[in-house]
Amino acid sequence: MIHEILTVGLLRCNCSVVADEASRDAIVTDPGDDISAILAILKKHNLRVSLIAVTHAHIDHIGGAHKLRDLTGAPVYMHADDAVLAANLDMQAAWLGIETPENPGIDRVAHEGDCLAFGACEAHVLHTPGHTPGSLSLYIPTEKKLIAGDTLFRGSIGRTDLPGGDAHRIANSIRGQLYTLPEDTTVIPGHGEETTIGREKFSNPFVRA
Ligand SMILES: [Zn+2]
Ligand SMILES: [Zn+2]
Repeated sequence: MIHEILTVGLLRCNCSVVADEASRDAIVTDPGDDISAILAILKKHNLRVSLIAVTHAHIDHIGGAHKLRDLTGAPVYMHADDAVLAANLDMQAAWLGIETPENPGIDRVAHEGDCLAFGACEAHVLHTPGHTPGSLSLYIPTEKKLIAGDTLFRGSIGRTDLPGGDAHRIANSIRGQLYTLPEDTTVIPGHGEETTIGREKFSNPFVRA
């Protein structure tokens, strides 16, 4: 599997391009901004985007999704519980003092347990609410990789003080959905450095196993 991680936008969101080497089918996660850099990665590896997966509707993760869909034709995949946040992109943009990007809407509604195929590879969808109501994490079992959005970070967890956040739900999501994955799973958080499930399970100061 091809996997490139780019940090995009003002808040340095980790955007992933994952692709199957044989078919060149790719999924792009969290294209928050810097669409030209994402397109350059796609071109470099000769990839075709089959899905734009948004882990949650914060502007730093969803901001470039409309533009990327315009340029690639790939559908936007997101959980319906974040539709309200997506409709408030103008408010989110005002907090950051940036221009309001267009709300891409949802082309394919995400559900817990969905399996996203790209060529011979697949990602399993986990609904991990708490940072936002519709937060998703994507688990790629063959690679033991987790794209965690803003649910779990190296030594931290997603903030729950923004609209739709819920401290109790995020702890339940992390314990029930993420800490149950193999301990040697590599976690690619929405921001900052990679970690592993095992490391966070035993040392994360906010949510212990
Ligand atoms: Zn967020
Ligand atoms: Zn974020």
